Amino acid sequence: MAESERKDLSNPVTDLKGVGAKVAERLEKLGITQIQDLLFHLPLRYQDRTRLLPLGSLKPQQEGLVEGTIRLSQVKFGRRRSLLCYIDDGTGSLVLRFFHFSKTQQQQLTQGVRVRCFGEIRNGPSSFEMVHPEYKIIPDEGIIPVDADLTPIYPTTEGLHQLSFRKLVERALAHLNDETSLPELLPEVARCHAVADTSLVEAIRFLHQPSPDVDVQQLLDRRHKTQRRLAYEELLAQQLSLRKVRLQTQQHKAPSLISDGQQRQALLSSLPFSLTGAQERVLKAILSDIGSKTPMQRLVQGDVGSGKTIVAALAVLEAVSAGYQAVMMAPTELLAEQHFKTFTAWLAPLGVNVGWCVGKQKSADRKVMLANLAEGKIQVAVGTHALFQNEVIFDHLGLVVIDEQHRFGVHQRLALRDKGKKASVFPHQLVMTATPIPRTLAMTAYADLNVSVIDELPPGRTAITTVVMPDSRRNDIIERVHLACQEKRQVYWVCTLVEESEHLQCQAAEDAANELQVALPDCRIDLVHGRMKSAEKEMVMNQFRAGNADILVATTVIEVGVDVPNASLMVIENAERLGLAQLHQLRGRVGRGEIESHCVLMYHPPLSENGQSRLTCLRQTNDGFVIAQRDLELRGPGELLGTRQTGLPQFRVANLMEDQDLIDVMAEAADQLLAVAPEDSDALVARWFGHKVNFGHV
Ligand code: ADP
Ligand code: MG
Repeated sequence: MAESERKDLSNPVTDLKGVGAKVAERLEKLGITQIQDLLFHLPLRYQDRTRLLPLGSLKPQQEGLVEGTIRLSQVKFGRRRSLLCYIDDGTGSLVLRFFHFSKTQQQQLTQGVRVRCFGEIRNGPSSFEMVHPEYKIIPDEGIIPVDADLTPIYPTTEGLHQLSFRKLVERALAHLNDETSLPELLPEVARCHAVADTSLVEAIRFLHQPSPDVDVQQLLDRRHKTQRRLAYEELLAQQLSLRKVRLQTQQHKAPSLISDGQQRQALLSSLPFSLTGAQERVLKAILSDIGSKTPMQRLVQGDVGSGKTIVAALAVLEAVSAGYQAVMMAPTELLAEQHFKTFTAWLAPLGVNVGWCVGKQKSADRKVMLANLAEGKIQVAVGTHALFQNEVIFDHLGLVVIDEQHRFGVHQRLALRDKGKKASVFPHQLVMTATPIPRTLAMTAYADLNVSVIDELPPGRTAITTVVMPDSRRNDIIERVHLACQEKRQVYWVCTLVEESEHLQCQAAEDAANELQVALPDCRIDLVHGRMKSAEKEMVMNQFRAGNADILVATTVIEVGVDVPNASLMVIENAERLGLAQLHQLRGRVGRGEIESHCVLMYHPPLSENGQSRLTCLRQTNDGFVIAQRDLELRGPGELLGTRQTGLPQFRVANLMEDQDLIDVMAEAADQLLAVAPEDSDALVARWFGHKVNFGHV
């Protein structure tokens, strides 16, 4: 052992050899301050350099070690100059691609040379490729051994190399002497859940240094029993930390919002429809929540078009009738505008003053609006995150509604709640999302919220038929658009780009609009994109809604909210670039009327395996929950929810797909621990999230 004396695991990391002030500072960025934090900083994944993969067996996205002889080596001058080496090992072949290479490299990597490479397999234009692999040249008749152990890869930070990090973990492990150095904190019931037969110490040691005979695939898939043991603990810690937030919230006071129901009846009878059973059920839950003196924390999930807006409006009206203000917040200006209009149409006839607050508002208008809001003359404010700003002051806020939750984070949500706080009375909070979240994910991400689901669409909707087509059939698709226009239907043509560049996206939309105009001179084509002023956007949308344009070419700005029942066809270009949830949202813009609707998902071949699965899923189902579940499987929870935004912790071992069964029993485990050993609960949370997540603060 490097150090002579054993250290307590709660000692600072600086007690370890090689950790000076600089390293300590970098470690702190990773939330590591104590020796034990290093132990709980688990490998993100492992690289397997213990075996050579036959070239004939490779699969895309696979990472691995391969070896072969260079059959041909050439510099290609295409869009980007690159060095291509074609290798082969008797079972198959592979292309090594280098965009950056030196003269020396070019001279080294020539025909007949044997190379060993490590990297990720990708689909190239003509065959599988490794782009910039790590490589070694194998000397003539030489053999280089493969690694004996899996290589752990740690999440690290700038200035802290994998190799140095591995060394530090080794030193920390040296202080993990026996089973007692890390106390077991699991509740008794963990035994029934079949994870407690592996000790914590054993699991930690194993995951940092897996033994060579481990089932590698199992480990890579995070299904090993030591991973399950730690996943259980991590999920439990997360559950407990959210419980804490929830408990805190429950100790807060909120105004009890109860009216005599007259205005509610008036609004309901002014509508051209009656509520669906699902809407009524959810409304009832909300009214009961806001009638109590504890702040409501409710998430309403409902597929696109399920009618969340009216439910929100009824809740808002209840607050107003009870003498309080309410605020409705949307993620985009377009959507905020639409809500403002809808709310005004519904509520103004009842004598409710609805105001409006977005970033680009004229400052004079804004001043008046803010003054009225602060004096309580405006009872309902609709807007974007501009409502967060300091100058926005409420007189007596009773209810906060947030639409499309997934774009706002937990912290923003809590910040808005705190804004409305007055003399330690908090407003109620209603969060609405059209991105259906798989149940297990909702339970982990929103354990501090009550969840209701509007699981029924208003009657009379027709299902959307979705087809998937390569862009080589673009002309056929344009012909189909033409046909729809001739039948007096309206069409959305959506342009996407994977780059975050709004500029490029708008450019693509402009090009598409021009192209369509040339191809279809008798159609009226309009364009809406993110770089247009909001007044312009609004005008275009209104024109389209009024039927004054046949085709609306758009970027993904139309994703949420827009409601044009006569639009019955949507074409999405490069659909393979978007995630399932986003495609589903987009598609929800059609199928809003009585006409049968269609969605064409156009893709640019070749389609990756994953891309194919996504598009197929959309073709097969319109059910948002099925799609969300599939999205979770294909992309992982982080991407689905936008981890950073939702504050969903990045799990270190837990895998929300593989560990769904554990999530199912977490409530039971948390209950037991809190009842029997509440002090262990705090210790467990500190162990996993201690210095990082601090929901408690907000
Ligand atoms: P979302 O849940 O996607 O926000 P909206 O609230 O925008 O859906 O509702 C979509 C459309 O359905 C709107 O035009 C709305 O007026 C209408 N709608 C809502 N509830 C009903 C209902 N119970 N019956 C018929 N139409 C309804
Ligand atoms: Mg909506």
